[in-house]
Amino acid sequence: MIPGTSVLRQVPVWQSVLARAITDPAELLAAVGLGDEWLPAAQAAARLFPLRVPRGFVARMRHGDPRDPLLRQVLPLAEECLAIEGFGADPVGDLFAMVVPGVLHKYHGRVLLTATGACAVHCRYCFRRHFPYAEANPVVDQWRQALDYIAGDDSITEVILSGGDPLSMSDRRLAELTTRLDAIPHLRRLRLHTRLPIVLPERVNDELLDWLGATRLKTAVVVHANHANEIDASVITALASLKASGAELLNQSVLLRGVNDSTEALMALSEKLFDAGVLPYYLHMLDKVQGAAHFVVEVAAARRLMAELNRQLPGYLVPRLVREIPGAPGKLWLT
Ligand SMILES: *Cc1c(COP(=O)(O)O)cnc(C)c1O
Ligand code: SF4
Repeated sequence: MIPGTSVLRQVPVWQSVLARAITDPAELLAAVGLGDEWLPAAQAAARLFPLRVPRGFVARMRHGDPRDPLLRQVLPLAEECLAIEGFGADPVGDLFAMVVPGVLHKYHGRVLLTATGACAVHCRYCFRRHFPYAEANPVVDQWRQALDYIAGDDSITEVILSGGDPLSMSDRRLAELTTRLDAIPHLRRLRLHTRLPIVLPERVNDELLDWLGATRLKTAVVVHANHANEIDASVITALASLKASGAELLNQSVLLRGVNDSTEALMALSEKLFDAGVLPYYLHMLDKVQGAAHFVVEVAAARRLMAELNRQLPGYLVPRLVREIPGAPGKLWLT
């Protein structure tokens, strides 16, 4: 075989970048210049929820700084191993809203499709860290049940692909799914909730832009960045391509102690997002998932931050502070 034409070239670039993500705590500590004193706890916590972080995201961290806001989102810490009263395994009651495998129908007019369990990054605060993806994954019957459900309810106008991260699926499968959604006449919008354009901007390739640009549905891509330092030149380029395909770009963040719980951090994030063509959408209060108690910001402090943002930013750069209440028909707006 001629070098360079082997079957390896069939693997999209982003998949090989993803395959090289750091999963070993010792390697992450070495990459950011931190000592072995962090290692035993990181290894213990990684046994509860594995470490995973793409190298490009690690490159945006400050060297030798254990308080770096990007590192804090992915480094397993001893605190995760503590059982804290009030922090459980299904804090948002997702399992009760599942109408058929993979479909959450909690809100009027839109359904959330939990397309896949895989994520390119494992965020330590994630409420899905205990989510039973195997049961929730609709792959087995190739979407038939999910699509039948959506087709059978004409009050549904929007499908939200969530996960996991829907963009961890192949473009072939995503294109197929989008074509089948296109054919459901009462659907108007397709929304993607994804962190991949932020943590692995290589994911925004021509194949993705092809199916995203081809659908008759109006598209919105809701990315997930928590700190301005996550948005570097490669991310800005990826976001510009998504926008050029016709998608509205929005961002959701989680309010996290030690990451973005200051007026300065939240303002810098909103301004950097807008520079990149993205509007802030939601700022989520942390879901009370076991292992994430050290990220909690109290409601009173969150409200003070929002009041300060409202004073210092134009309204369109202020995200809406929300909290999920198990079993409630919508997200609770705190501001
Ligand atoms: C957040 C969420 C949505 C989308 O809510 P919007 O207010 O439209 O952004 C839909 N379904 C579920 C289950 C959700 O958690
Ligand atoms: S990318 Fe989203 S779903 Fe995946 S671990 Fe992070 S917060 Fe959770």
